[in-house]
Amino acid sequence: MVRDHEKEEIGGFIFKEAKKAANKLNLIFDLQRQHLESITEHSATQVVNRIRSTQNRRFLQNHVEKPVHGAFYNIMTQQQLSERLSFAFLRSSGLRSETEGFILACQDGVYGSLVYRSRIMGQQIEDIRCRACHQAPETLWHILSACPTYAASAYTQRHNAALRVIYYHLRHMHGFDETPVLPQTPKEIESLVENETTKIYWNYPFQAFGQIRANRPDIVLQDIATKIIYVIEFSAPSEKNIISKEEEKREKYQELLEQMRRMYADHSVRLVVLVIGSLGGVKDTLLQQLKLIPACYNVAERLAASMQKAVILGSLKILRAHDTRIQ
Ligand SMILES: [Zn+2]
Repeated sequence: MVRDHEKEEIGGFIFKEAKKAANKLNLIFDLQRQHLESITEHSATQVVNRIRSTQNRRFLQNHVEKPVHGAFYNIMTQQQLSERLSFAFLRSSGLRSETEGFILACQDGVYGSLVYRSRIMGQQIEDIRCRACHQAPETLWHILSACPTYAASAYTQRHNAALRVIYYHLRHMHGFDETPVLPQTPKEIESLVENETTKIYWNYPFQAFGQIRANRPDIVLQDIATKIIYVIEFSAPSEKNIISKEEEKREKYQELLEQMRRMYADHSVRLVVLVIGSLGGVKDTLLQQLKLIPACYNVAERLAASMQKAVILGSLKILRAHDTRIQ
């Protein structure tokens, strides 16, 4: 009865509304058919799944179009970041839900920087320059990756926390430590450890090469058995700069690689560039690069996730400490 009434289109609205809703959800709702098989021919689960995935797509689309909240997602597209790897911290890292929420809020641009408070929240703030360096406007990205006050220690600490993950993994895999577990308290790391088959350098200045611009890579792994040297460089820049940081690192270490190739003529020398954005953003190349190192090949994904967690916790610490600053 309802259907017939609605088809007459005299004051009928239920079917019209249903059709509108179905259109939005990419479902076919065909009034002309005898039965509403267009929907009912699918199982309820299928219909629900389709509705859900369409709603998710629409939700994301709406979100991405927002100038503040969508910025991070637009950066992800520009910088070719991997959705799966960039949000890996939500799946497996064991971060507390408050931390996950805080990071997601930061990704959405919702953080009480002075610029945010003044431009978005409309608060009266006389001086929007950074509370730490008093130089540049205090934006989230400035605090996370561009503040000269934090460059010397806070960024280095975050950088080294992530780098230690791979360093201790290499030590374990090459027989220096019995377990792959990181020491509880970060201790001073030896600039060189060696055994019969391997040398691992940490932040070691290769002065033998004379005056070259960049002679202190993060980690150098010399595998004497296979005669391969891996020069490993890591960086945790702002998500906006992931691609340029990768290129910069490659360019910067060319000279060192050439010198090494000359000095270790019987070795092959490979550069491994690892980049994780300050809010966890990651390109697929992170896994590809990790997999260049045989000791990391099978656990590349786990290492990437642990490094990402270290970066995120480092950023969190920087932001929390910054919050306690008084104008
Ligand atoms: Zn600053």
